[in-house]
Amino acid sequence: TNPIITIDGPTASGKGTVAQLVAQALQFHYLDSGALYRLTALSALTQKLALDDELAIATIASQLPCRFEGEQIWLGDVEVGNTIRAEEIGNAASKIAVLPAVREALLQLQKSFSKAPGLIADGRDMGTVVFPDASLKIYLTASVAARAERRFKQLISKGFSASMQDLMQDLTERDARDQNRSAAPLKPAQGAYILDTSALTVDQAVAEVLQQYAS
Ligand code: C5P
Repeated sequence: TNPIITIDGPTASGKGTVAQLVAQALQFHYLDSGALYRLTALSALTQKLALDDELAIATIASQLPCRFEGEQIWLGDVEVGNTIRAEEIGNAASKIAVLPAVREALLQLQKSFSKAPGLIADGRDMGTVVFPDASLKIYLTASVAARAERRFKQLISKGFSASMQDLMQDLTERDARDQNRSAAPLKPAQGAYILDTSALTVDQAVAEVLQQYAS
């Protein structure tokens, strides 16, 4: 079986950045599971579905025509790598993520990313549900203020407008939704290494994960 490192944690904890750099360092594949929820949400919004229409949205998720190519993310023949980073899509993603049938529909797709020589999987339930047998499980977190600031910089750099106050509120709401839902609530997996990155640089966080993996 191929080695798997799971990196779970709250919104904007730096998971994506850290996970991609760890994947690069180890030459492993990378699964951005949040992107699958965002792609499903984008499809649902495009089709003007109500975000609690569990059956219709699970059907979308089970047939998601997605393709990952480096930085590019394709939904059908449209490149949506930037589009799905909008806060509106992130919020919609967290709403459809509470629906058990949607989570179930994405399960096999997520598992299919595990390939030689190994996988780094980033999300909310990678260590708890999708890859419970992972070689290393990391729970990456940071203070709300640190996360809002990172998300702010990320949004501005992608050409979106953003306000710190709105972001802090968004993050708090999204954390509560992720932690309090009954389907795969966000929590550290059993045996997870908890890494608080509030006071760490990206490079320091990456080094910590690599060291945990090596030891
Ligand atoms: O990580 P990202 O912000 O892209 O995820 C968007 C939303 O998708 C999260 O707020 C969360 O509700 C949901 N999600 C999830 N399980 C995952 C990944 C993301 O429920 N494994």
